[in-house]
Amino acid sequence: MRVERASSHPGLMFPKRREVRLEVRAYRGFIERLFAHYDWRCAACHKVTHLTCHHTIKRSRLCRDTFDNCIPLCLGMFGCHDAAERGAFLFTYNPMTERFTVARKV
Ligand SMILES: [Zn+2]
Repeated sequence: MRVERASSHPGLMFPKRREVRLEVRAYRGFIERLFAHYDWRCAACHKVTHLTCHHTIKRSRLCRDTFDNCIPLCLGMFGCHDAAERGAFLFTYNPMTERFTVARKV
């Protein structure tokens, strides 16, 4: 793996945990592919709006930036991402379409 140096701190390596993540540029490319895969729509409400990447398993818990873990959800005060963080949705991954379907829990 290529090691990048922080320009403001020459010689300082990024912390080790970065190794579980994609590099920043690769991550941005992944996000674009993910959003395009869902036609730039929120996977829950299908609105074309500000999207963010929701990880069904948190990145902090060593999850991966992959289609089977990431889902585009809309941002905002009453957005689907907020609802997902509150556990309002049930996500089911379909390996055939490489997409999640979203159901609202009752
Ligand atoms: Zn939404």
